[in-house]
Amino acid sequence: MADDFDPYYTWLGIPPKDQPPNHYRLLGVERFESNPDVIENAADRQMAHIRLFQNGPQGDISQKLLNEITSAKLCLLAPAKKAEYDPADSITPMLESAWEHCDFLDSLGFTRYCVSLKDSDPNKVIDVNRRFAERRPDVPLHLGVTEAGLPPDGVIKTRIAFEQLISRGIGDTIRVSLTVPNNSKPEEIQAGRQILADIAAGRVRSVVNYGLPTLNIIACPSCSRVENQAFIELAQQVKEMANYAKEHAITIAVMGCRVNGPGETDDADLGLWCGPNYVNLKRGNAELGAYAYDDILRRLKTELDALIASKS
Ligand code: SF4
Repeated sequence: MADDFDPYYTWLGIPPKDQPPNHYRLLGVERFESNPDVIENAADRQMAHIRLFQNGPQGDISQKLLNEITSAKLCLLAPAKKAEYDPADSITPMLESAWEHCDFLDSLGFTRYCVSLKDSDPNKVIDVNRRFAERRPDVPLHLGVTEAGLPPDGVIKTRIAFEQLISRGIGDTIRVSLTVPNNSKPEEIQAGRQILADIAAGRVRSVVNYGLPTLNIIACPSCSRVENQAFIELAQQVKEMANYAKEHAITIAVMGCRVNGPGETDDADLGLWCGPNYVNLKRGNAELGAYAYDDILRRLKTELDALIASKS
């Protein structure tokens, strides 16, 4: 603001000794005022007054002050708002705050902004970003899982969130946050690039639905838990065998290990997970048995045929 002009004092009567004003002083209410109506009315009153100067020579200063008053109002209303929510629900307040801030930016004419909704729990990251995108598909989203932790767990958490969101076209920029020393920070970028490449190729850790009305075959990217390298070949063979069903909206998940395979195939129509000598097969949640590597394709095809017949 201009050196010779004091808008706080001139427009709001706040003397230099009280500057910069705290939120209460800026709105002209008593310190620790908590009545939401009083706060709301005070903010409206101050803003109506400041708007009088918007078209004058100090229009830019007026706008800056309007922004400060709006921020103060939102901040002081937060405790009252908090009481409106279930303490166990951390998603809805985050969402509503994001929508509110977007409305505010929109009202000021901003069009080039990006929103980030983060949590350390990947499931919450998925939930909040999905819900935000449903209502504001026009606003770009920056994706990330905060405090994801050390690799490989930190990468896995981030991967799960990104898989579920990016596969549905949600997300415009990403950040992988890992607990690594500063000189190892490039690992975050490598992990991010790897996750994006894997999602594009259908190599995913969780069952993802790309939202297409066609066959969806996913295979985990594999890791040290794989006990039989035949898994890598099997994933390719499943793809080739199932090609005849490409027009059917069926998800087949091929997972590389017995540790995560049983749980991670839960959301697939047909799920396979690999042990050292056998491949386990599941239809929905029902386990169908374990089959030799050279027998599993035949068995899978029988199940796939039955599934197609049941859907037609
Ligand atoms: S399913 Fe098993 S083998 Fe595949 S990436 Fe996950 S932990 Fe590793």
